[in-house]
Formats: sequence, structure tokens, C-alpha cells
Amino acid sequence: THFGFRQVASDEKASMVAEVFHSVAAKYDVMNDLMSMGVHRAWKRFTLECSGVRSGDRVLDIAGGTGDITALMSKRVGDDGQVVLADINASMLQVGRGKLRDRGVVSNVEFVQANAEALPFPDNYFDAITIGFGLRNVTDKSKALASMYRVLKPGGRLLVLEFSKPQYDWLASVYDTYSFKLLPKMGELVANDSESYQYLAESIRMHPDQDTLAGMMSDVGFDEVKYFNLTGGIVALHRGYKF
Ligand code: SAM
Repeated sequence: THFGFRQVASDEKASMVAEVFHSVAAKYDVMNDLMSMGVHRAWKRFTLECSGVRSGDRVLDIAGGTGDITALMSKRVGDDGQVVLADINASMLQVGRGKLRDRGVVSNVEFVQANAEALPFPDNYFDAITIGFGLRNVTDKSKALASMYRVLKPGGRLLVLEFSKPQYDWLASVYDTYSFKLLPKMGELVANDSESYQYLAESIRMHPDQDTLAGMMSDVGFDEVKYFNLTGGIVALHRGYKF
């Protein structure tokens, strides 16, 4: 199947997000490992385990970027299954495609440039959808969640892995210092780009907390919505079903 390419939204937030990911694409993986001290790999594995994805399933990894979740899913669904990595940003897609090809992950993966708010796929198409550290960047989150709901099969589930609200005050203050002081410095040193990492810290602070996001998922139709706090709520995994 080939879904073709879509026009990218052109409002202010979208173009700012585009610029950020265009400029961080090449250094994205190194920065991820550094900033999370490698823990993002465990968060992504946990997402796989909670997804219930099985051999032969059809999975959409939206905002898939450089493809970590896609790689895990590709192994899990096997040759009878399919994974579509969709991302709005051509630079991120290019880095992702190259990396997965180098790792030998290709036969069951397709790459599509698409906006999460207007997914170019048929109704009732995917067994599971993942969006890892992507929803935060989407301008109209409810619209995106509704679009994901539409393309899920009945019985399918959505997994949203995203930064969230730390569960303890002391952790929140340590984390604040880390993300607003240290993070832009690291971005400056490693990627020569403190602005993008300043944006990252701000976008994390603005993102809806655990219960708000769960409510947004329920509002667009998801059932049995629940979330798992990871690393003290610095990150949360939300899961919802379409019945
Ligand atoms: N999922 C990957 C991971 O966990 O490592 C990449 C996450 S990266 C922080 C966020 C990705 O979201 C970027 O590749 C960016 O291009 C993409 N993105 C931002 N807005 C988007 C949108 N409206 N639709 C689809 N992808 C979007």
C-alpha cells in the first residue's frame, strides 16, 4: 500500500515545530540518549509491552521520527505484519529511514509524511497506534486524537508516550532546573542549538497533565483509558481502546 504525501500545515506553531525538528534531526538520537541517560529506551520497550501487539498486526507509529518504536514494532509484527512510520517532518523521516535501513529493519516498514491531525489512512485500518514524544508538538491535539480514533480498527488501541507531570514536588523542582537550565546548555554544547532545547522544555511544561490528557482521549471516544506513570511521572504512557 502507498498512501502518498500530504501538505504540511502552515500555522505558526507547526512551522516552528518544523524548524526545531529540522535542526535537531541529525543529532536527535545522541541527544535523546544523553538527555534521558538512556532511559527513553526503557520507556519505549514498556510501550511495546503495553500495546498487546502481536505477529501479523498492522501498526501506525505516528510522529515516528528516527524510528525507535517502529523498530521494536517491526520485530514484533514480523513478516506478516506491517508498520507505518508517519512523521510530518521530511528531515526526521530521512534520518529514520536511513537508520532503520542500516539496522536491517525494512521489509515490513513503510514511511509516510503526514500530519497527525489529518491522517491519510482509511477508517478502521490499524490494530494499534503509537505516538511517542509527539503529541506535545501537535497544534490541535483533540483533532489529532480523533483522527487516530478514526483509523483504528474496533478492538484497536492507542498508546501515547509523552512527558507529563512529575508526581512529587521535590522531583518537579529538580526536573525544572534540569530542563530549563541544563538542557539548553547540553543542546548548545552537543548540537550547537540551545533554542530548540529551550523550546523542548517549554513544550513539556505546557503539555496537559495525566488526567487532562486521559479526559481528552475519552472525549474523542476512547474507552478504558488509563495511564502508567514512568520515572515518577516525568513521562506517562496513556492507553485507550476503540470498541
Ligand atoms: N517518536 C520518536 C521518538 O520517540 O524518538 C520521535 C519523537 S520527536 C521528539 C517528535 C516528532 O514529532 C518529530 O519527528 C516531529 O517531526 C514530529 N511531529 C511534530 N508535529 C507533528 C505532527 N503534527 N504530525 C506528525 N508528526 C509530527
